[in-house]
Amino acid sequence: MSQIQLLSKPKTKRGSTYLFPCVCFGCRKTFRKPPSETPRPCPECSKPMIMLNRKFSSPKSRDVEQWKKVDYLVQHGFYFFSVYRTAENGKKISVPYPVRLADAPSFVKEFMSQSARHRRGVEEPEGRSQTSSPSDA
Ligand SMILES: [Zn+2]
Repeated sequence: MSQIQLLSKPKTKRGSTYLFPCVCFGCRKTFRKPPSETPRPCPECSKPMIMLNRKFSSPKSRDVEQWKKVDYLVQHGFYFFSVYRTAENGKKISVPYPVRLADAPSFVKEFMSQSARHRRGVEEPEGRSQTSSPSDA
């Protein structure tokens, strides 16, 4: 099977029906759902799930170490979007996510500046609002 479609990213339209992986770390399961403003409840335990990038591929539910790795990455704001390393010539190179749990901490450390925690507006605020006031519209 060729994977030519990987390079031509489909544009995301408003109201599109693309499904995104929503994970429940309690059940260690992934459910593919259309994007939603609010976290969707897990169909099995009804805890809010976390929506990840479509690149995410779910580990098997038995694979606890892989789920720990995913949990670790998500906790640090890595939702399986692409991260980039800047090469010496200034080019940006897409970096694969760590395969093993043991590799996750160094990955998080190196790419922390690209974490969702450092991106604005995507994730919920972390309760620390002393840096800037939200009333500058
Ligand atoms: Zn669940």
